[in-house]
Amino acid sequence: MLEKKILWRQILEELANHPIELLTIPSNAREGVWFEAQSDGKDVWLARAKYHEPSSTMTNSNKITEKQFIEVASVYEKWMAGDREARKRDTNNHNTSYLFALIKYMDESQINFEKGFVGWIQQNRKVSPITIKKYISAIRVVDKTLVENNHFYNKIFKIRNTDLIEEIKRLNEIREIDQVGNRMYTAPLNHYIKYLNYLDELREQRLDEQLNIDVEHLLKEELIDYDSSRHIDKSEKVPELDDRVYSTYRRNPKKAIKALQIANFSCEISSSHKTFTSKKTGRNYVEAHHLIPINRQGDFKDASLDVEANIVALCPNCHRYIHHGEVDEVSKMVEILFNERIFRLKKCGLPVLIEEILSSYC
Ligand SMILES: [Zn+2]
Ligand SMILES: [Zn+2]
Repeated sequence: MLEKKILWRQILEELANHPIELLTIPSNAREGVWFEAQSDGKDVWLARAKYHEPSSTMTNSNKITEKQFIEVASVYEKWMAGDREARKRDTNNHNTSYLFALIKYMDESQINFEKGFVGWIQQNRKVSPITIKKYISAIRVVDKTLVENNHFYNKIFKIRNTDLIEEIKRLNEIREIDQVGNRMYTAPLNHYIKYLNYLDELREQRLDEQLNIDVEHLLKEELIDYDSSRHIDKSEKVPELDDRVYSTYRRNPKKAIKALQIANFSCEISSSHKTFTSKKTGRNYVEAHHLIPINRQGDFKDASLDVEANIVALCPNCHRYIHHGEVDEVSKMVEILFNERIFRLKKCGLPVLIEEILSSYC
């Protein structure tokens, strides 16, 4: 049951930032049809496929709740174990063939995660092919040990959260085999933590870029009817998410647009930074950046980080700088931005200290 709850959480996370199109698994010999699946962080939504033929003919978006999912997931297990009748006998859920496809996709994504990890080690770490093989079999032993000890999480390549890997490293049963095995179990786990951190950075960077592309596309329409001089900062609610599983939250481009407008489309490090006129918007081109990074949302239980007060306008150079520049210079930039924002952040329920923000940039 817990396993299925975890799988459900993983599906919500996986589909939150990009809807996917999948082929159904029909119960008879018929061909599958394509459909789109996405999540709003709470439920999964199914719809007709946009990019694949033949598409499902469902007319409206179809909501799947956790309860429905868990019921069908139990049937999937029996069905996979060879009980072909389970599907007709144990469920009359109309969405079974969609949910089966989704579960299968997640199983495969775990395999892909292992492949991704191996590929990353090969390219980025100085590790021989023989050692990589040893790492993978060591991780299998860790999986097995976790199963034998009835551990809550029992598949390393299903875990996306580095804290959980650290927890597993500290388990007595893992420490025991590690001592005997001359650290051959913690070594691959440490590499896996580095891989997860790398993926996190990649995802943050992509979301950051995506936000600014969304902003450009939406900007013209959104500018109408908004008087930035009347903007009032106030605390906003955070959606309730399990932050052990979730490490990211959506960024709303409309908030970013308002923030850019409040900054009058000039770089907040210095208004003297020249950029250029955007062809889409006709305004000075600046980018939105979250001063307290969105991936810190887990530390702020009561107030959203996706508020205008936490979004700064930066020229492209300063924006790259703040992400990639050396720590001393970046700290100076963050301080400049923070000193301008300190009272506005407070009004939004974010009474942070400069040290807390800086720790995200080191
Ligand atoms: Zn940024
Ligand atoms: Zn600048």
